[in-house]
Amino acid sequence: MGKVTGFQEYDRKLPAKLPPAERIKNYNEFESLYSDEELNKQSARCMNCGIPFCHNGCPLGNIIPEFNDAVYKQDWEGAYQILSSTNNFPEFTGRICPAPCESACVLGINKPAVAIEEIEKHIIEIAYQKGLVKPTAPLVKTGKKVSVVGSGPAGLAAAAQLAKAGHEVTVYERDDKVGGLLRYGIPDFKLEKNVIDRRIEVMEKDGVVFKTGVEVGKDISTDDLIRNADAVVLAGGSTIPRNLPIPGRELKGVHFAMDFLKQQNKRVGSSPITAEDILATGKDVVVIGGGDTGSDCVGTSNRQGAKSVKQFEVMMQPPAQRTENMPWPTYPMVLKTTTSHEEGVERFWGINTKEFLGDENGELRALKVADVSWEVDFLGRPVKFTEVEGSEREIPCQRVFLAMGFLHPQHTGMIESLGVELDARKNVNAKEGVYRTNVSKVFSAGDMRRGQSLVVWAISEGRECARKVDEFLMGHSVLESKDSVN
Ligand code: FAD
Repeated sequence: MGKVTGFQEYDRKLPAKLPPAERIKNYNEFESLYSDEELNKQSARCMNCGIPFCHNGCPLGNIIPEFNDAVYKQDWEGAYQILSSTNNFPEFTGRICPAPCESACVLGINKPAVAIEEIEKHIIEIAYQKGLVKPTAPLVKTGKKVSVVGSGPAGLAAAAQLAKAGHEVTVYERDDKVGGLLRYGIPDFKLEKNVIDRRIEVMEKDGVVFKTGVEVGKDISTDDLIRNADAVVLAGGSTIPRNLPIPGRELKGVHFAMDFLKQQNKRVGSSPITAEDILATGKDVVVIGGGDTGSDCVGTSNRQGAKSVKQFEVMMQPPAQRTENMPWPTYPMVLKTTTSHEEGVERFWGINTKEFLGDENGELRALKVADVSWEVDFLGRPVKFTEVEGSEREIPCQRVFLAMGFLHPQHTGMIESLGVELDARKNVNAKEGVYRTNVSKVFSAGDMRRGQSLVVWAISEGRECARKVDEFLMGHSVLESKDSVN
């Protein structure tokens, strides 16, 4: 290891961010990069543990101590090779991953964890600057064709790996641009879209063909999809949002979060918007749901100039001792604080929305809410809530964004037409580690198979699924698996 005493000498430091009042003036990313000296110090904090837990914490199995060492020695080619051997898209995870590797960092037990996510972002940005990110597809092709449905991180990772194995890959995407939720869910202030475009250019040089504006099961039939490929990967995401079917749901001003976020991402990306504008400008906004989607609605509402922003979560408030670097899981685990919360929001926990109240024009004017208290099991997990007597009240608002998660993939169209079996949660039934569905030569990965999850899991599933497809087509696979590199 470069500097054995680094973890004793240097504190964890994150790059500077623009102050909230500045950053909400536009949709750009607002974090700066480390100086060379600071990057060197942060990488020196890695302890080179005898048994590192960080790469088990990472769903991709990123080989973290080794890339930290290479960064410390300023061996950029080496750092990039190590990182890209397990992760096709460090530029995405380095920006928006909740970094389970950092929760698993041994240093995190008594000091703040190594800033692994930031170091990852720096390695890939330096690699792009130095021209190290190059196509990897072999000149000799296998002659096998694979079709991938969906261009989110799972579909992209599967496509990148399959091209690397020498297959001819076509990605079908029903939206007008490639990227899935990276493009049209996650706002630009977390992930600027030129970061996706830059990667797509490399993949195109690798021979991957992208067909946008094509919905499989509608614009092309599933019979044609199967007939024209030796294998198919379904990576269509988990797109059906959880609703709140209470009185007043039909009122104008109550929207699913994704309808709101997608429109704003399209506006920033100058893509055509066909539906009526959904804007928070000048409105009192309530976001219902405390996860990533909810937090993105908070950040977007503030950037649009909302009059006020509140965020409701029915779960109880996380315990005060839960901090960024607390190594053990506590319940509830979903209620993290993000940069969007720094920008202005009033957060409410343990609150249940009972009714949307409208005016004479059918426009939302308020919410009828009540506080709740939770019964917990022996592990402290919330199991049942009851309303706190006398707590019912009205909260005035003109916009509500429902950000309560996603149920499962869309079944109508492609899935029904293919006859793909579903699991108990109504996701595509394909066992983890195997990724094959009941339909001959059809595989599945990402949120469509796993259910609503994270970008890092989507990339991991796309990679592992590609390896299974490669084995299916060739009898063996030349692709790495996370078990083989660790
Ligand atoms: P998706 O990204 O959903 O991509 C699926 C793609 O398939 C879509 O583009 C869809 O149009 C296409 N498709 C579907 N059916 C068809 C068809 N029949 N024909 C053609 N195309 C089709 N995770 C994080 O790790 N960090 C975050 O900060 C984070 N923030 C998030 C914010 C929001 C608002 C949301 C909604 C999710 C967020 N997530 C985050 C979760 C993360 O984005 C997802 O887990 C991840 O994108 C799933 O990847 P995927 O490739 O499986 O599916």
